[in-house]
Amino acid sequence: MRGLDHREVETIRGKVLLPSGDAEEMCISYTSTILKISRTCGEAEEMPRKTLIVPGGIDIHTHVRGAQLSYKETIETASAEAAYGGVTAFFDMPNTIPKIDSPSRVDDRLREFEGRSLIDYGIYSGVPRSVEHVEAIENKPVAGFKIYPEDLEEENSDVIQRVYRSSKLKILHSESPKALAVQRSIRVASTWMELAPLYMARGRIHVTHITSYTAILRALSQGFTTDVTPHHLLLDTESGCMDKVNPPFRGPVERSLLWKALDKVSCVASDHAPHTLKEKMQPYDHCPPGIAAVSFTVPFIYTLAYRGIISFRRALELVSLNPARILGLDGVGVLKPGYRANITIIKFDEWRYMTRFSKTVHTPLNGFRLSATVYRTIVGGETVFSEGDIHGRYPGVNMLDRASR
Ligand SMILES: [Zn+2]
Repeated sequence: MRGLDHREVETIRGKVLLPSGDAEEMCISYTSTILKISRTCGEAEEMPRKTLIVPGGIDIHTHVRGAQLSYKETIETASAEAAYGGVTAFFDMPNTIPKIDSPSRVDDRLREFEGRSLIDYGIYSGVPRSVEHVEAIENKPVAGFKIYPEDLEEENSDVIQRVYRSSKLKILHSESPKALAVQRSIRVASTWMELAPLYMARGRIHVTHITSYTAILRALSQGFTTDVTPHHLLLDTESGCMDKVNPPFRGPVERSLLWKALDKVSCVASDHAPHTLKEKMQPYDHCPPGIAAVSFTVPFIYTLAYRGIISFRRALELVSLNPARILGLDGVGVLKPGYRANITIIKFDEWRYMTRFSKTVHTPLNGFRLSATVYRTIVGGETVFSEGDIHGRYPGVNMLDRASR
């Protein structure tokens, strides 16, 4: 933990979702770390009725923007939106401007995050241009490498082969580079193009925003982990720029199979990808793909648990425990003494989802009916969101930097 912890001990009492998946009336005492979880305690802040204390959400795939893309979103606005959605750690993709693909750009990006994030974070590097750069980045506190379809154009290059051999996590956007070149309507029907890169990939691979059932089975058979996004579970087709996204929606049949696979995928990720309204108002062929809803995932998954579609144990696996395991993070992902006090308090209430703090106000998920909302979000023992308001002094730390936790 960060230096000497002078924070006063706080204690909350309420229904707690334990690692077993059982919910029991308990007290949690914490500073920046969870100190004790017990059935009885002295003075404690009582949580309201119909709330559930759960481990903080971990989003393995987000585009936080910032730097030259700050007009779309900043670390401050993205982390506020995430806190509002019960996410206590998010992991940022490297397709910023400039692209994060060299040791010095990794350092710059990590410096940019320092003191600006309300929640904990980590960054991925893109595929660098040389083997030497892969080796230098491997020794830095990054979550891993992101592999895009265009990186696979030279499947046999020394660099990509060296990335596959790295012990770091590789997040794979599994579409053949050919998929990007074909007409969008053809791409929609070409789920085989999602399969092709899986046969080539090896090592510690996480296949992100997977959209086809066959690809999920293939990834599992190769020992890879997978995630699915809420928007691929909920939407069938693109109606225009607002819901234009990569990979594209695959239609009602493939979407219904994704629901069938919800007990097979490792986790759920938002792929939060904000663009301005002006950019999304461009003609369809020119508008950028991406849906921004980092705050949707945790309330959505606990809505599914509340409605009995998945178990509460499965909910905590999908948004907390499994992302922590995939990223190799210890000390987060469940509520346990000695773990970092990253805690989300869910309130079961009917409401219509709306983004709140992101610069992006337009998302096809706005207006979607949910049964769970976020009452409070605690990061490293500090309340960063509570009852509708953002608080806190940017306590987020790099989760890959053990010295800062
Ligand atoms: Zn993405």
